[in-house]
Amino acid sequence: MHTPAARRVRDLVYATLVDEGRAPSIRELARLTDTPAEAIAQTLRELADAHALVLSQDGDAVRMAHPFTAAPMAFVLTPTNGLDDRRWWGGCAWDSFGISAALNLDVQIATACPYCGAHIAFDSGPNTPPPAELAVRFPRPAVHWWDDVVATCTMIRMFCDRDHAERWTTKNAPGAGYIADAVTVWHLAGPWYGDRVHPDFQPHTRDHNQHLLDSVGLTGPFWQLP
Ligand SMILES: [Zn+2]
Ligand SMILES: [Zn+2]
Repeated sequence: MHTPAARRVRDLVYATLVDEGRAPSIRELARLTDTPAEAIAQTLRELADAHALVLSQDGDAVRMAHPFTAAPMAFVLTPTNGLDDRRWWGGCAWDSFGISAALNLDVQIATACPYCGAHIAFDSGPNTPPPAELAVRFPRPAVHWWDDVVATCTMIRMFCDRDHAERWTTKNAPGAGYIADAVTVWHLAGPWYGDRVHPDFQPHTRDHNQHLLDSVGLTGPFWQLP
């Protein structure tokens, strides 16, 4: 649970990411809340410690607020309704589905296969799963995700198919990681991120999130949350 002041800052960070695809600056948050910048910086550190968002390496800017990222990463999301000018970077395959779920919005997700470089683009949405052949590779076990969460997201990539994910792994990280169907990750992203920008969002407990992993068949030591 966050203090009301922290909750206000957290909600403003998310609102700016939702509306503009970027994170607000500390001075901007200070102005919007009529709070000294140093107090905002302290609040952001508390939110980062609670894994409610991720700060830049120097701690002076919001880097990610899952499923949103403030800096370019491997996925680009474009609303498919043709009338919506917003765009977002997806931090990883999971986050890309998460943005669609959080916004209850149909999007085109575009990325490149790390193995062969092929351009991958498809429509997805809360009721539209991704193509069945696509695969997602998770680089490290859940217990280590937050050791360096930006690096973790950077490496949760989407491949043309399971074969390309396996070939990439053999070449670059033999024996490491876990390859899931993109449809499974899409199923996970719905309940994991669907409530993230609701006004009454409350952080999920560890047990709740473990149940969400279990419910889509992501079980075993690799998927045990810390
Ligand atoms: Zn490929
Ligand atoms: Zn991610």
